This record gives sequence, structure tokens and C-alpha cells, in this order.
Amino acid sequence: MARLILLPGKERSVLRRHPWIFAGAVDRLDGRARPGDTVEVSAADGRPLGRAAFSPQSQIRARVWSFDPEETVDDAFFKRRVAAALARRAALPGFAGEQGLGAARGERGFRVVHGESDGLPGVVADCYGDTLVVQLTAVGADRWRRAIVGALVLATGCRHVYERSDADVRRLEGLQPETGWRLGGPAVAEGAEPAATDAPPLSISENGVRMHVDVVGGHKTGFYLDQRDNRLLVGQLAAGRAVLNCFCYTGGFSLQALAGGAASVLSIDSSGPALATAAANLALNPQLPAERAEWREADVFSELRALKNAGARFDLIILDPPKFAPSAAHAERAARAYKDINLLGFRLLAPGGLLMSYSCSGGIGVEFFQKIITDAAVDAGREARIVRRLAASPDHPVALAFPEGEYLKGLLCQAD
Ligand code: SAH
Repeated sequence: MARLILLPGKERSVLRRHPWIFAGAVDRLDGRARPGDTVEVSAADGRPLGRAAFSPQSQIRARVWSFDPEETVDDAFFKRRVAAALARRAALPGFAGEQGLGAARGERGFRVVHGESDGLPGVVADCYGDTLVVQLTAVGADRWRRAIVGALVLATGCRHVYERSDADVRRLEGLQPETGWRLGGPAVAEGAEPAATDAPPLSISENGVRMHVDVVGGHKTGFYLDQRDNRLLVGQLAAGRAVLNCFCYTGGFSLQALAGGAASVLSIDSSGPALATAAANLALNPQLPAERAEWREADVFSELRALKNAGARFDLIILDPPKFAPSAAHAERAARAYKDINLLGFRLLAPGGLLMSYSCSGGIGVEFFQKIITDAAVDAGREARIVRRLAASPDHPVALAFPEGEYLKGLLCQAD
């Protein structure tokens, strides 16, 4: 095995269990290694630090698989890591008390593996009932595809596996997009070869509401699982309120609001297909009062202005925009966009109203986000207070050693 030798002092972050080794921390590679090969990592003085996946094309030159220099990276390693990730989920709120995943799975959607924070850099795996969606974003993870998929299938018992390795970040690792059924698929019942492009009709039950999941064409792995618990909170807050859900995608927050007894729910998104799925989701739930829901295909920025000019008011406003700042370099421009929609949000809030506002931009930290919201409230002339700080659901953990894993942040503000 080749050895990746760090520059003096650069072992510190590895000793603190940060899994990324940047190109600038590397002194040299002793021996030969191809992209994705496992290498030994050692400090400048020769002290062994662990084993990592080598990625010569990326600025993140290696991602640590194990901080134990003796631990072999093989099929059994991935079985152990996946089993541990699953065991962690079984102890979480909403899953606690359920024995492992078999019982927890049911018809739910949840994240089984959350990359670096679960000790599996570059690996994301989401479970939608019986269907597992795997997303590999680093060359090491890509190399171990078979072992990773095998470990996931063994641990979850899922009968269908779709790979959604189409995230842009793969390019930084010199990887092409890879998508397709790895197990089962739409035609599995007939025993035929699955068509790579067909999405089987798949739905999950989330907090008592049924939602379509399009694992082939949907965003991320098909659904925004990270907002699950926050959608539940909206259900708890919605009773009797006029709700405005901006960037509604397939209507997750909207349907929870209806289930929670909202007086009305206006949902806005610029994507026609997303809204079509949202309407289909509503139809999947005949118990919900469909007449209280309105879907509007529009740009949120201009629609909020139009609503304000029309004198509209709402009791609960949800702002869950796409990532405006993919990295810190975009933070300044993104801040203006966040400020804009939140300013309009505050202006549209009825007295005593609630604003639930999110940013999923890794480049915008919690403190900065709070400042943007504060500025928006000031400019809107509204006094408000934070009543809840919000984050991704606990099946999207953030390893303490890996603060980069924190991306979704939200504030629930109550205005006067
Ligand atoms: N809240 C959703 C996820 C939102 S994803 C959930 O819980 O499932 C962000 C959504 O914003 C996408 O559906 C995208 O189509 C939409 N979008 C992006 N830019 C927009 C804009 N300027 N106006 C309206 N919708 C927009």
C-alpha cells in the first residue's frame, strides 16, 4: 500500500478526526496509487494516522476511511460502517425503540448513511420504503461501489437499489455521472431487465401523509428528507392559520400544513413538474381538505412583491429556497437574495405571525444567516424573536469533527 506523507504539523486535523486531507497538507506519496486506492496516511515523522482514499484530481487529496492505521478497508469494513450507521438511526427520535432498520423501515423515508458524518466519506444512502438510493460523490466511494451497495442491501433488506451519482461535485473528483438500477427496479416483479430510465411509482408515508418519491428524476435522491421533522413542526403550528409555502417543490410543507388544520395554504414554485407532483401528492391523500390548497407556478421573488402590493397577509410563512450560495465565494450575492425574500416575508406576516426561514447554503453560516434575517426584519419595520432554531432531521447528523457537514439551518421567528 502506498503511503501519503503529510507536511510537518499537518497531522493535527487528522488527529482531531477531520476526514479531509487537502492537497496543501501533503508532502509526498511514497509508492504508486491510482484514484480511489486506499493509502496509508502518516505524519511527517512517520507516525501512522489512518487509511484513506487517494484522490489525485481533487483539492481534497484524500478522505480518511479509518483513523485506525491497522483497520483494513475491505467488504467487511463497509458492512461494519453501514451497520453502525443503521444502529445509530435506531436510537434516534422517531426511530427509538425499533430494532434496527428492518422494523424502522416500513414505508418511511430516511437517510441511512450521511457521508463523512457517518464515517463514510462521499457516501449518501436514503431509504424509501423498500427502495434504497445511493449517491457516491468521491472517487474512493466510487471505487468501492459494489461493497457499499452490498453492505447497504444486507443491512436494510431493501429489494431495489437505484444509484443517483449525478451530483456536480463528482467532477471535482474526475468522475462522470453514474445512474441506474443496481438491484431490482421497475420491472423486477416480471423478472425482466430493468429499464435504466423508468421510475417505479414509489411513495412513502411521512408523518401520516403520503408522498410520491421520484428517485430517478427528483431532486437530491428524490425527496428532501432533511426537512422531515421541520415539516412535522409546520403541521403542529398550522391550525387555523393562513399559510404561505414558498419554494414548495412537491408540497411537503403544504400537505403537513393541511394535515395540521391550516385555514388555507398557498404554495409557490417556479417548477411546473414539481407542482404537478405536488397536486398528485394532494390527490394521494383524500383525507386532506384539497379545497384549502392553492398551487401557483411563479417566481417567488416577484410573486411575493405582487402579494405585498395586493395587501395579502399570512399567519405562517415558510421560505425554503434552493442553495443560493454553493460555496463561501457566493455568500455576498446569496445574502442579498436571502435578505430580499425574508424582507418580503416579514412584510407579508400578519400581526403575531410566524416566519420559518431556511438556508441550505454551506457557504452561509448560522450566525451570518441570523444577521440576514435580523436585517430583513429591521428593514421591514417588524419586531420579531427567534422561538426555535432549526436544522436537518437527526438522520442527517453532523460529526463534531466535521463542521463542514452542517448545511441546513433555519429560524422560526414570531413577529409582533
Ligand atoms: N421545501 C421543499 C424543498 C424546496 S427545494 C420540500 O420540503 O420538499 C427548492 C425549490 O425551489 C425547488 O422546487 C425549485 O423548483 C424552487 N425554486 C427555485 N428557484 C425558484 C424561484 N426563483 N421561484 C420559485 N421557486 C423556485
